[in-house]
Amino acid sequence: MMSMKTTISVIKCDVGSLAGHHVVPQPLLNIAERRLKEAAETGLINSYFVFNVGDDMELLMVHNKGVDNTEIHTLAWNVFQEAAKKATNLKLYGAGQDLLVTAFSGNVRGLGPGVAEMEIEERASEPIVVLAADKTEPGAWNYPLFKIFADPSNTAGLVIDPKMMCGFKFEVLDVIENKAVVLKCPEEMYELIALIGTPGRYVIRRIWRASDDMICAVSSTTRLSLIAGRYVGKDDPVCIIRAQHGLPALGEILAPFMHSYFVEGWMRGSHWGPLMPVGLKDARCTVFDGPPRVVAIGLQICNGKIACDDDGKPMIADLFADVAFDMARQEAMQFAAILRRMGEFMPARLGPEELEYTGLKETLKKLEKRFKKVE
Ligand SMILES: [Mg+2]
Repeated sequence: MMSMKTTISVIKCDVGSLAGHHVVPQPLLNIAERRLKEAAETGLINSYFVFNVGDDMELLMVHNKGVDNTEIHTLAWNVFQEAAKKATNLKLYGAGQDLLVTAFSGNVRGLGPGVAEMEIEERASEPIVVLAADKTEPGAWNYPLFKIFADPSNTAGLVIDPKMMCGFKFEVLDVIENKAVVLKCPEEMYELIALIGTPGRYVIRRIWRASDDMICAVSSTTRLSLIAGRYVGKDDPVCIIRAQHGLPALGEILAPFMHSYFVEGWMRGSHWGPLMPVGLKDARCTVFDGPPRVVAIGLQICNGKIACDDDGKPMIADLFADVAFDMARQEAMQFAAILRRMGEFMPARLGPEELEYTGLKETLKKLEKRFKKVE
C-alpha cells in the first residue's frame, strides 16, 4: 500500500480587529469556524483549528491535497474575504488590512495572507508545534529556529540522539532580493548566523534533517511592505515544526521561549520589542500595541487528521499557557518598560532602512528644501 501523505497548512490574515489592532473578535472567528466545518464535512479538509493571535486570524488545516493547493488556498481566501466583509460592516479597525490584491488566482502567496505549509509522511507518532506571533515579522523565528535545530546548548538531542548528529539544513530567504540559499549545520553554522542575524532581510524558510532530507520546519516569509510598497502592518509570522523521534523534543522546541528576546515590530511595525510567550486567552495586544506576542499550539497528526478526543474534537495543547513561561512574561514586561523609556530614539525605534515604508519618509521629504549646506 502506498503511504498517504498528509499536508498541514497554516494560513493567516489580519482581516480587521476590535478596538484598534488588538484582537480578532468572535463574529469573525465564527465565520472561519463555520466555513472550515463545512469544508471538513464535504471532505475538502480532514480537520482544522481556528484561533487568533492579536489581530491575526489563523486557519490551521490538515488535508491530503499537498502544498500550494488551489482548493485549499481558495477556501482560506474566501474565509478571509467573508470575514473582511463582516469587519467592514461592523466598522472594525483595519478591515481587510492584509488583503492587498483584489484579483485572486488560486494561491494566496504574495497577496497578503501569510502561509506555512508542510507535506509529510506520517511517522508512527507525529507531534507538531505551530508557532504564531503578532506585532512582529517572519525573521522573528530565526533566533529560536537556530537554537532548536543548531544549538547544542538548547537542544540536547544534537549531542545525545545519534539520529540528529548528522545535523540540519537551513533554507534562508533573502526577502529583499527574493533569492534563497541552503546552509548545513554544524559545518556552516557561522555562515548561517552571519545571515540570519539580520532578521529583517534573511529569514529561515525551511529546515530539513540532513541525513534523509526529511522536512522538519516551515515558516511564513511574506513581507507585506515589499508587496504593497508601503507600510500596511507587520507580517505577523507562523511556523510549523515537527517534534520528537530523531528531531528536537517538544521541550527543546519550547526552551528558547524560556526567556524573552527582541524582535522587530510592535507599535506601527517600527520598534524593537520583547517577544512575550502567552496562552491563547492572552493572545491580545495592548501596551504600545503589544508587547509582541507568540502562542504555541501542540497537536498530534493521526491518519491525515488532528488526533481527536472521545467527542471527535481535535486535541489542542495551549503550550505557553503554563507557569513555566511566567519568567519570560515578566522579563518581556521589564524589557518593554526599558525600551519605552527611550521613546522614538534608537535602538528603541528601528533603523532608517526598516522605516522606509512608513510616514517618516514624508517628513524627510518635507524638510528636504530647508536643509542648507554647511561649509
Ligand atoms: Mg497582526
